[in-house]
Amino acid sequence: MGGGGGLFNVGKSKAIKASKVQTRFKDVAGLQESKAEVMEFVDILQNPERYTKLGAKIPKGALLVGPPGCGKTLLAKATAGESKAPFYSISGSDFIEMFVGVGPARVRDLFAQARANAPCLIFIDEIDAVGRARGKGGFNGGNDERENTLNQLLIELDGFSPSSGECIVVLAGTNRADVLDPALLRPGRFDRQIVVDKPDITGRAEIFRLDADSESWSQKMAALTPGFSGAEIANVCNEAALIAARRSESVVTAECFDAAIDRVIAGIEKKDLTIDPYERRVVAFHEAGHALCGWLLEHADPVMKVSIVPRGQSALGYSQSLPRDVPLYTEGQLDDMMCMALGGRAAEQVAPPHPLCAPPSPRSPVTVYGLSSRVGPLSFGQQEESNTLYRPYSEKTARVIDEEVSKIIDASYERAVSLLTEHRDKLTALAESLLEKEVIGSDDLIRVLGERPFSKSVDYDE
Ligand code: ADP
Repeated sequence: MGGGGGLFNVGKSKAIKASKVQTRFKDVAGLQESKAEVMEFVDILQNPERYTKLGAKIPKGALLVGPPGCGKTLLAKATAGESKAPFYSISGSDFIEMFVGVGPARVRDLFAQARANAPCLIFIDEIDAVGRARGKGGFNGGNDERENTLNQLLIELDGFSPSSGECIVVLAGTNRADVLDPALLRPGRFDRQIVVDKPDITGRAEIFRLDADSESWSQKMAALTPGFSGAEIANVCNEAALIAARRSESVVTAECFDAAIDRVIAGIEKKDLTIDPYERRVVAFHEAGHALCGWLLEHADPVMKVSIVPRGQSALGYSQSLPRDVPLYTEGQLDDMMCMALGGRAAEQVAPPHPLCAPPSPRSPVTVYGLSSRVGPLSFGQQEESNTLYRPYSEKTARVIDEEVSKIIDASYERAVSLLTEHRDKLTALAESLLEKEVIGSDDLIRVLGERPFSKSVDYDE
């Protein structure tokens, strides 16, 4: 930090420069795909001429998107470390000061330093602090300053050209790519996004292994810490060491880890981020229900990946299907999709009990896709659900729609329940496998469920 910079330092970038970064990819646990993506930047920083010679348009950088404490800074540092390039790191909030003109001056200074030291890597953490969409509800001067800073950042991003020898890679971290000014995301700026997500059970075990050197317990600790970020695991390891010291142990024992996990969970619970074991079981059966229906039904989108790693506050788990190119559906497809959508809830009936959860919008088969013979083959579009004032149909039709909707849901739900009851052993096996591994891909699905009965048209390697 600026310590002692005083007024003369007002326009200085405040970035911390590290010339010899020691961090390497081996220090970053899990995140295989994210590492593979930043690998390209390592290569560019090491051999910029190779790219320029071929006339390639070199990417200037990428957004690292993910929740706090999951390794964005670590990954950026490792990218610099692997390429042996100088590393400038600064937080978006460091650009924002109360004095007018300081933000833009800091941005200018940062890029001037970077240009002088190219090839190098800049990491801007919390870019949303400067990069929020401009012109949104503000009449105070502070916003103008932020917008000027953002404008300067855009100018600087456009102003250097890796192709002409100024090889600067700019990585920026955020958890809120959705609030960023679209100008930042244009081609030639941050036009790539690399996801740096919470670790799954294997990733967590790896972080425990790295941080605590506890080969024998890492797997067990990973199982006890679903939903933890890498930073929270690092915190557990540190707490465990403190507890061991307090107890005058000569090594950090398993009990110390248990106590440390409890302590860290107590801290996280305040932030409302943990899931209790019962809830986790329910999520596993719920997701297994969606996935199994998708697996068994001919026209459902084939499931590629099922996860119970919590993401953000809302989604507790998800099943990822192979997206279809053209959103055209036959009646059979809609029936199967409906059954798959209700499969999560049906699984909770077939397997463990659980309080109600919201089903997916079940009105669309009637109001959008025109599947009810009583309402007719009509589509009223999607908006009608939120806008009763402008409903394009009568009260009577509204009643008929409601009745038809419940008929379709009931039928699809019954279908899902009987399908899952018939394959209850598979449902349980899939849920147990999810509880054990948290994320399972198509290979595991085939191992647990056998080949998909209708896999002719699907290439699982895609
Ligand atoms: P972010 O930038 O995403 O907020 P950081 O990279 O600052 O998170 O991570 C904070 C700390 O958490 C790291 O210094 C490291 O100790 C630990 N950590 C987070 N993710 C990982 C990971 N994937 N591998 C190893 N350690 C991690």
